[in-house]
Amino acid sequence: MPTRRTKRGVARKPLSGDADVLVCGGSFAGLAVARELRGSGARVLVLDRYEIGERQTSACGIPTEWLRVMGLMGSHRQTFDRLVVHTPHGTVALRLPWTFSTFDYPELCRLLWEQCDAGFETAKVDGRTGDTVHTDRGDVAASLVVDALGWRRVLGGGYQPPDAPLSRGLEVHPWGVGDEMEIWIDRRYVPAGYGWSFPAREELRIGVGSFDPRFHVKDTTVLLAGDLQRDPVRYQGNWIPHQLRPAAEDGIFFVGDSAGHCLPLTAEGIRTALYFGIACGRELRAVGEGRRTIAEALTRYGDFSAAHESKFSSMLRAQRLVPRVPPRLLAASLRGMQARRFVDWSFGHYLAIAPPEFAASGPAPGRAGGPSLARAA
Ligand SMILES: Cc1cc2nc3c(=O)[nH]c(=O)nc-3n(C[C@H](O)[C@H](O)[C@H](O)COP(=O)(O)OP(=O)(O)OC[C@H]3O[C@@H](n4cnc5c(N)ncnc54)[C@H](O)[C@@H]3O)c2cc1C
Repeated sequence: MPTRRTKRGVARKPLSGDADVLVCGGSFAGLAVARELRGSGARVLVLDRYEIGERQTSACGIPTEWLRVMGLMGSHRQTFDRLVVHTPHGTVALRLPWTFSTFDYPELCRLLWEQCDAGFETAKVDGRTGDTVHTDRGDVAASLVVDALGWRRVLGGGYQPPDAPLSRGLEVHPWGVGDEMEIWIDRRYVPAGYGWSFPAREELRIGVGSFDPRFHVKDTTVLLAGDLQRDPVRYQGNWIPHQLRPAAEDGIFFVGDSAGHCLPLTAEGIRTALYFGIACGRELRAVGEGRRTIAEALTRYGDFSAAHESKFSSMLRAQRLVPRVPPRLLAASLRGMQARRFVDWSFGHYLAIAPPEFAASGPAPGRAGGPSLARAA
């Protein structure tokens, strides 16, 4: 079980005052925004109900290059150059044109936080009135407010499962080692979705994700772990949005799962949370440097996110199609997809949805002394 380090009792003093930028949510998306504001001179405050890195929110798999360009290789656990796909009618191994890695969540968050110069407070965000955000410790005001709070989109119109475009995922983390990144497209585990096993050095992350929010994945997560002769221990799970939502709305910047930035079909949402977090951070920085008004930054960031709509929509179409393909035909199609040229082409396009070069192209974290956001807001 994760240890609770979040401030309690007397340590939880009332929170009040203001910030130039208030980043609600201190996981992938929120930390990427704050990182991009380092050295801007802005008073950036990050809020999360838990300490940074305290609650793992995923299997922590990401294209390796994203770890490298962000200076996060210290959290790296294991690298894979192929994806092994199991179906009831056969197994194929797709040799990837780029590698995928697992990482350690607390360590990655620690490294990201080291690259920020923001303040942090543990507080549960309950909602907002205008530019005042209400928390369980009091109110904080800011002219620039970011919702990186995950699928609930607390500062916008929230989703109510199961009547929402949400997938659900659950995994267990038994100790053990493995060499392959594996997925199972098998109706024994889930009618629409897939099971996975991601080794991360001394532990395995074994889980099941369902595109249908009504399908309960607990029993089949246990089944998959059992089939792999692993103990179903150390659970973690969550809802996963699979539809893009407006990333700028009513004066708020939404990033990561709160904007539906997790990719449909694969449920890969870490790289995209970092990618859109960087894009958002760059817009906020431009406001501070007097290059844009807040309204312009909201429009530009919202448009940037919306420009990805066709890619997200085609992934969503594939998410709806794959479960309808008869299993034998699916197995045959996967065998056909093993062709090197096809894998390079399809995985190349997939990586290009949120390419690592995007992170490398911006201002280096650690750039000192930008102008203050307070002056421009
Ligand atoms: C089982 C599972 C496995 C997954 N595996 C992968 C994977 O291997 N690779 C991948 O790319 N994606 C994976 N995903 C998807 C990925 O986890 C998400 O897309 C990603 O975490 C989104 O990042 P985020 O920062 O937007 O949101 P989150 O990571 O959900 O972070 C939201 C933050 O906001 C905080 N918060 C929430 N509500 C409040 C509140 N009211 N007040 C204060 N703080 C609050 C939370 O504590 C958290 O720190 C997986 C998802 C699941 C469920």
